[in-house]
Amino acid sequence: MFEIGVQLRRERGAENVFDYSIGNPDVEPPEAVIAALRAIVVENRPRSHSYMPNAGYPEVRATLAHRLAERSGVPFTGEDLLMTSGAAGAINTILKAILDPGDEVMVLSPYFPEYRFYIENHGGRVVFVETDQQFQPDPVRIGRALSPRTRALILNSPNNPTGVVYSESVLRAVNRVLPDPVLVICDEPYRPLTFDGASTPEAVRIFDRAVIAWSWSKAMAIPGERIGYLALPPHLPGIEQLRGACTVANRILGYINAPAIWQWVVAAAPEATVDVAQYQEKRDLLCDALQAMGYDAPRPQGAFYVFPRTPIPDDIAFIGLLQEEGILAVPGAGFGRGGYMRLSLTVTRDAIERSLPGFERALKRARAICPHPEPELAGLATR
Ligand code: PLP
Repeated sequence: MFEIGVQLRRERGAENVFDYSIGNPDVEPPEAVIAALRAIVVENRPRSHSYMPNAGYPEVRATLAHRLAERSGVPFTGEDLLMTSGAAGAINTILKAILDPGDEVMVLSPYFPEYRFYIENHGGRVVFVETDQQFQPDPVRIGRALSPRTRALILNSPNNPTGVVYSESVLRAVNRVLPDPVLVICDEPYRPLTFDGASTPEAVRIFDRAVIAWSWSKAMAIPGERIGYLALPPHLPGIEQLRGACTVANRILGYINAPAIWQWVVAAAPEATVDVAQYQEKRDLLCDALQAMGYDAPRPQGAFYVFPRTPIPDDIAFIGLLQEEGILAVPGAGFGRGGYMRLSLTVTRDAIERSLPGFERALKRARAICPHPEPELAGLATR
C-alpha cells in the first residue's frame, strides 16, 4: 500500500490521494507529553541514557503499577510491570516466555496480521477462530478450537481492524470456556480510544488468567517511540517464575530494555491522551456519508478504524476501484476476512470530505459489475 501511495501521489499530486490505509496517528501528541519530554531533556540527569534493569526503572514501574491498580482494581505493584518496546514488544515477550514449539495460540478473526508472525517467532502455531456477526468473540467457537496444546488466546479490544469493543458479558462467557493453563493476552493499545462515552471492560478482572500488553503508541500518538509495558497480575499461577521468564525474554529477544527517556515521559503523564473527539467526528462524518450512499458501514465503538463491507464480495477488486479514485484502503483479506475493507481515520476531515465523491463513483461502478451481490456471501468471501 505504501508503494502504491507513493506512485499515486506522483501521478495525481499529494492533495488528490486519500490514504486510509495506515494506522499511524495523524494528530500530535498531547501537550503534557511534550512538556514532560522537554523537562526530562532539560534536567539531563546523569546516566539518563544508560542501560537499566531489564524490566525498566523501578520508580517508573511503581508509578505506572499504582495507576493501573487504581483503574483496574487489581493490586498491581511495580514488580508486576515490565517496560517494553511497545505492545509488540510486550506480546513477543510473553509468547517467548510461555510457548514451547508446537504450542497453539488462538487469534480471533478478523485479526491484526502481525499476530501470526509474533506467534511463529516463538515456535507457536496460530489457530484462527471466527468472531460472530458483530465481530464479538464467540465462546462456542473458541471452546471448539481448544486442544491440549492451546496455551493462549490473544484478545484485542478496542479492535483493529473492526473498531469493536468487546462486551463484558461476552468476555465472561469466554472465560468460562477457557481451561487452565490457557492465558489470555489482552492487547490494549487502543483502550483509551472509545466513542460515545463507552469504556473497555477490565479484562484482568474478568479472566482468571490474563495479562495486559499495553502501549502509548495510539493513545499518545507516539508509535515511533516504542514504549509500552507487559502487566502480569500478582494472582497468576506461577507468577514468580513467569516474571523471571518475561524479564529474561525481554532482554534476549534483543530489546534489552524499553527506551530510557520515554519511560520517564510516560510516568510523568501516564493518562495524557490525544483528543478522542477528533476521531469520533471523523468517524461520524465518514460513516454517515458512506451509509447515505448505500455502503454497509457500521460506526465503530473505538480505535480509529472503520470496517465496511465491500459492495462486491471481491474486496481486492473493489480496493482497485477505489485506487482509481485516489483512495487507498486495506482489503479485509489482509485481516483474514474477505468482503470487507479497513479505512483508518488517520486522515484529515478535509481529505474525508474531498474523498466522498470517489467512494460514490466506486460504489456505482461496483454495482454495474455486480448488481445483486448476496449480502451473506459478501461477508463470507475468503481467500
Ligand atoms: N496490536 C495491535 C492490534 C495494533 O494495531 C498494533 C499496532 O498497530 C500493535 C499491537 C503494535 O503496537 P505497538 O506499536 O505499540 O507495538
